[in-house]
Amino acid sequence: MKVYERKSAGRTGEGIEPTTTIVSRREGLDEVDGCMLGTSHKKVLRMSSMGGGSYHIVYRSGEVVTLTLVDAPAEQAAAEAHVTSILGGKVHLASNQGPVPFPLCSSGSRSTATKYRAIAASVTCRECDGIQQRRAARLEREAK
Ligand SMILES: [Zn+2]
Repeated sequence: MKVYERKSAGRTGEGIEPTTTIVSRREGLDEVDGCMLGTSHKKVLRMSSMGGGSYHIVYRSGEVVTLTLVDAPAEQAAAEAHVTSILGGKVHLASNQGPVPFPLCSSGSRSTATKYRAIAASVTCRECDGIQQRRAARLEREAK
């Protein structure tokens, strides 16, 4: 799962400190869209795409913002990377392949017509829970 790393260069002498924050892809794109054609348009001096979904924005205020598409930190990915059928049912881990929410386990491929949505609830699917436990065990081994 991708998120934006939002780096603001700040301005010395004006009390604007450099900051780096992680924002969702949606929030990042909202800022980009706002700068290009929306409500923030007049506040922007220059803006350029750096490729790969990354943007460089210079605001009239002097603030310089870089939005870089990065892999989500593990804990944020875990909180957002669950899906459930729009009809309800078990909560699955999300596959990060493809643009739409889809379960990581085989239940998704068994019913390709089912639509899924992202959900913050804990995993209740047994197959996905198994995957989750193996992942946790692997991370623990790697941390040693
Ligand atoms: Zn599952």
